[in-house]
Amino acid sequence: MRAAVLEQCPGDLVIDEITLTTPEPDEVLIQTVACGLCHSDLHMIDGHLHTPVPAVLGHEAAGIVQAVGENVTDFAPGDRVVSCLSMFCGTCRECSVGSTWLCERRQSLGKRTDGTSRLRRGDEQVAQMTGLGAFAEEMLVHRNAIVRVPDELPLDVGSLLGCAVVTGVGSVINGAKLRPGSTVAVIGCGGVGLNIVQGALIAGAERIIAIDLNPEKLALAGLFGATDVINGGETDAVEAVIDLTGGGVDAAFEAIGLPATAQQAFRMIRPGRTAYLVGLPGAGATIELPGTAMLLQGRGLQGLFMGSNNFKRDIPMLANLYLQGRLKLDELVAARIDLEQVNEGYAAMRRGTEARSVIVF
Ligand SMILES: [Zn+2]
Ligand SMILES: [Zn+2]
Repeated sequence: MRAAVLEQCPGDLVIDEITLTTPEPDEVLIQTVACGLCHSDLHMIDGHLHTPVPAVLGHEAAGIVQAVGENVTDFAPGDRVVSCLSMFCGTCRECSVGSTWLCERRQSLGKRTDGTSRLRRGDEQVAQMTGLGAFAEEMLVHRNAIVRVPDELPLDVGSLLGCAVVTGVGSVINGAKLRPGSTVAVIGCGGVGLNIVQGALIAGAERIIAIDLNPEKLALAGLFGATDVINGGETDAVEAVIDLTGGGVDAAFEAIGLPATAQQAFRMIRPGRTAYLVGLPGAGATIELPGTAMLLQGRGLQGLFMGSNNFKRDIPMLANLYLQGRLKLDELVAARIDLEQVNEGYAAMRRGTEARSVIVF
């Protein structure tokens, strides 16, 4: 099968022929239908996050089940599925208390039971990024890395449920557990940030303030439910949020992954509230916070990984909200591209002007 391979870190992706190992009892073989381009892959392409190479990247995918291993009873060939990198074992301490997105065995579920990769090029092992490796015509994954979605869901937009949407909406409803009537600020209006905005709308936020440097993304944020937009390049975003809300927001979400914007999020919240780090920082990044304000004003900063999801519950719910017209997906897609155009898609992401490109196989 054809796949987009990262040969060096940093480096561009190269289209090459890759083979899959024979499915093990807990594995499912999927024909990939679509895969979104996520900023986390770009971190690896640009060398900001180290990853073993060669590797097949891509983790925001949807497809159709082709074959199942002998232990798999909840999927059958022909099922339409969305993948999620929050794969889980179901039995570790975190899974037992319901925090499946923190599964202690997540890393090992991304490989064969003998610890080798499911992807090969001749005799060479090729790493399967996040246990999915979805920039490929087929995926071989653990059964707890996918969930079935309704037949009516178009898979090109459905793929986005697996990362950007579950992360954004999940951060609001699972992570922050936002109450109706809250005030919210969102820093960064890319794929995840727009979904934090629409998550806040779904959760009944009274005021949703979107912040970005790009006027096109701010216009999209308005479409997704922002009540106010701030161009952080023209205005001091922290002062503007405090002015608009008479003292700060109940919850601020950072969806870029930069220490400077994480500090801004912390300074935008009212005393006793929490700012949330949702964007993935580069390797080794540290965030300095004013300790006195943190203690005397009872402020917090909390990281939220992948929207604190239980994706087998959350993704079908999000798919149904889309089918009812209550969740926007079509508007997230700026371009549908071929696998061969993956590097051009990431070049567009670096320019920061578009919402999301989706590879359609
Ligand atoms: Zn992602
Ligand atoms: Zn587990």
